[in-house]
Amino acid sequence: MFFDSDDSSSGYRIGKVTIDSSFHTQSADENFYKYFRNDTLYSMTRTVHPDDVGFFKDSVSSLEGDEIRHCIIRMKNMQGEYRWMIMKMSLNVQMLARGIRLTDIVVKDAVGLERSTTGLENIIERFRFLLSVQESIIFEYSSQTSRFYIYSFDYNANTVFYNEDFDYFRFHMLSENFISESSRETFESFCESVKGGISRFSFEMETSVLTNGDQTSLQQFSGFTETDSDENFIVLGLISEKKTLSDALSAGNPAYEANLDSLTRLFSKKNITGYAESRIESGEQKTVTVAIIDIDNFKYINDTYGHLFGDDIICTAAAVIKKETGNKGAAGRIGGDEFMIVLDNVSDEIELRSILRAIRSNIEMKCAEKKEGLKVTCSMGTACFPDDAQSYQQLFRTADKALYIAKEKGKDRYVIYNREKHGAVEDEDTTAINTALSVKENADKTEVVSRIISGLTVTGTVTAEQAVQTMISLFELDRIRLYIGFELSLRYSFPQSDENENAGYVFSDGYLNNFTESGVFVTDNTDALEGRNTEAFSCLKKDGVQASVQCVCRENDSVRGMISFELTSHFKKWPQMDVSFMSILSRILFEIIK
Ligand code: GH3
Ligand code: MG
Repeated sequence: MFFDSDDSSSGYRIGKVTIDSSFHTQSADENFYKYFRNDTLYSMTRTVHPDDVGFFKDSVSSLEGDEIRHCIIRMKNMQGEYRWMIMKMSLNVQMLARGIRLTDIVVKDAVGLERSTTGLENIIERFRFLLSVQESIIFEYSSQTSRFYIYSFDYNANTVFYNEDFDYFRFHMLSENFISESSRETFESFCESVKGGISRFSFEMETSVLTNGDQTSLQQFSGFTETDSDENFIVLGLISEKKTLSDALSAGNPAYEANLDSLTRLFSKKNITGYAESRIESGEQKTVTVAIIDIDNFKYINDTYGHLFGDDIICTAAAVIKKETGNKGAAGRIGGDEFMIVLDNVSDEIELRSILRAIRSNIEMKCAEKKEGLKVTCSMGTACFPDDAQSYQQLFRTADKALYIAKEKGKDRYVIYNREKHGAVEDEDTTAINTALSVKENADKTEVVSRIISGLTVTGTVTAEQAVQTMISLFELDRIRLYIGFELSLRYSFPQSDENENAGYVFSDGYLNNFTESGVFVTDNTDALEGRNTEAFSCLKKDGVQASVQCVCRENDSVRGMISFELTSHFKKWPQMDVSFMSILSRILFEIIK
């Protein structure tokens, strides 16, 4: 963008020449000859302005060792006009070692250079302006000075965060722990890229560089390098705040704001649970680790120092937990003295241990500052998806079991769940909502369903109509429709319905693909069919079906019947148990009715 190292079109670099001690040209690059023609073939002094020859000779002759000298001298170009040239002179050290004195001179056109640098400045100026509009944090490095600047550029006033030697900056950031442990390696790569003048780079790091160690956040450092003809370069870049999902959830989202725990401002139980579920369901995370943290003997603290002091301890613990979780995940309060953190992609047990250890020791330390001699400890249990559990509920139960073990073993410790060491966690088929009540409900349903089946098949005391009517109330349905035959003609509907004499839509638009191998298709919301199964969608809509469980019955691989269990008044998330019962009953009804 600015200028290339060996391109005369950049407008100011003329070329390079090597002369001997009597100022005769030994060699020169093509550009140099092009510019000065043959005039310089003999002695450089031929092209130097007569008034400057003395100065030129003195400058060349007095050069010593590895000295680099710049001087401005008028030289004649091929059009015969004299122009001010900047000469960068240095002795050829290798030849000098062999006793031959040769001087390398890089010649640049001073006016062109000025124009170019003005161009460079203009570009930087425009770049800065653009950035100031976005309130960005900028970093700049110059290979010539080795200085590193970080500043925010508000067009009128600059806030300078750093202005120091780059090596010092690097050392300072690492020794002050302004770079999170997990980002140290990335930081080293960033430093190498800056010092090496890598053309384009971008690194994501967790740092507290901009807050002087106060607040760690995830930041992106992106930059690019521009090199000039002398191989000097400048690196320009931006530091931008990266938002994590938990930030996105909490920032400016009134629903989440309202649901924050009022005492600690951590996520509420509902939110942190929802967050954990979404992390698992999104499938974007390699691992999701849940840690449950419970303060030890908290009742004692309440009883001894009072409830208000107890609150203070809860807040202190919450602040530590929030800080240590940082951008690695999210933290919530799930009970009086109980917290949960959800961590994304914890790389290994070492990282997990270091987080847990930091939480434990900092809670103890911060609480000790509150009251002399007070020792507040906590116990923790963790489990990891997908290694230890397949669902959020299972994950939570597993972490809870680990916490229980930590308490059992004498508190003040963390336990990372390990199946081999701690044994399997009881596998409850249904979710945590599986309270005693709903288990009982299912038990009752099982009882009713078995009575229907035996009445239909063994004792013959139940008719198909009676079975259908019982199922309506058992599964809280609005309607059941039964279709039979090649064309799935309506055989029976309860309550009666005059709509659609057949369910021919089942054979359209690949609708049958919706059914599982065992012939069941569950729709929580008919609208989901819109655009996918047009005919089915319009038929079901016309009949007012909002949600349904449909079971097809096959004979020799062809569909010969379908029973549709329907809701016309609302959508529904169907319980798996109900769906299984409906599927079994459908097969029996089909066999009886066909
Ligand atoms: P353990 O070591 O087994 O965890 O024992 P513990 O004494 O900490 O017992 P537990 O965790 O079961 O009890 C937590 C206590 O926290 C019970 C309740 O009185 C108290 N608590 C619940 N919510 C609050 C609150 O908002 N503020 C205060 N100060 N106390 C609370
Ligand atoms: Mg407790």
